[in-house]
Amino acid sequence: MATKTGTESIKQIQYLAAALKAPRITQTAQRLADQARDAGWTHEDYLAAVLDREVSARNASGAELRIRAAGFPARKTMEDFDFDTQPAIRAQVGSLASGAFLTEARNIVLLGPPGTGKTHLATGLGVAAARNGHRVLFATATDWITRLTDAHRMGRLPQELAKLRRYALIIVDEVGYLPFEQDAANLFFQLVSSRYEHASLILTSNLPFSGWAGVFGDQAVAAAMIDRIVHHADVLTLKGASYRLRGRGIDSLPSTRTQNQAH
Ligand code: ADP
Ligand code: MG
Repeated sequence: MATKTGTESIKQIQYLAAALKAPRITQTAQRLADQARDAGWTHEDYLAAVLDREVSARNASGAELRIRAAGFPARKTMEDFDFDTQPAIRAQVGSLASGAFLTEARNIVLLGPPGTGKTHLATGLGVAAARNGHRVLFATATDWITRLTDAHRMGRLPQELAKLRRYALIIVDEVGYLPFEQDAANLFFQLVSSRYEHASLILTSNLPFSGWAGVFGDQAVAAAMIDRIVHHADVLTLKGASYRLRGRGIDSLPSTRTQNQAH
């Protein structure tokens, strides 16, 4: 039961919490005050508990905002990835999930046939990064090319690349589903160069590196790009049948895929 002074203090806390732009503190301060009295917490314990609730709530809402801003096609997490289908990469992915690759500006390349979980893992690593306080952007290779082409047309490519460098992680999904025009390949090369040793990329592709020359239309551009990407990178090769087709009596997809099967 709040005393008269207690009520005044609560009003004051309400005012001060609003001034600090932490209105949640009003509720936690009140709720935890009773708990503190019952459990005989010290003043320090109580203050730490109130601040701890505020910091956790802020981190959670920050993470949620970063996850929404990242533009993932679906919300997938590392926790709901079943490694029994990809036992060979379990340990490697486990060490990547900590996010140390981001502080070292390392890249991750996920290769493998359709339906093996490349987009899922790229998203899961992105969600983990967002939860750890990093800014993330996800788009398909085609969408990135559109974005870079637009910036280039407006004469703002350097500014756009500088802006993108402020994102710790950029995910480029589906490299290789569509071949790039020469100009597009050059723009993509600039994206890769601009992030090289500054910030991380995750790329997914259904093609092995040997097939990338066909995507970028030029052996030399592809080689220079792959060189920069894999210099500091973990390359994970996913194997096996499509997870989407499990239990449907279909073991494999035709190796030549048309565009409308791409998702
Ligand atoms: P890819 O990008 O390699 O074509 P996706 O990551 O889109 O494949 O996976 C296809 C679908 O199957 C998605 O819904 C994904 O969540 C699911 N999936 C694939 N592999 C796994 C897995 N090992 N555990 C759980 N879900 C998986
Ligand atoms: Mg995919």
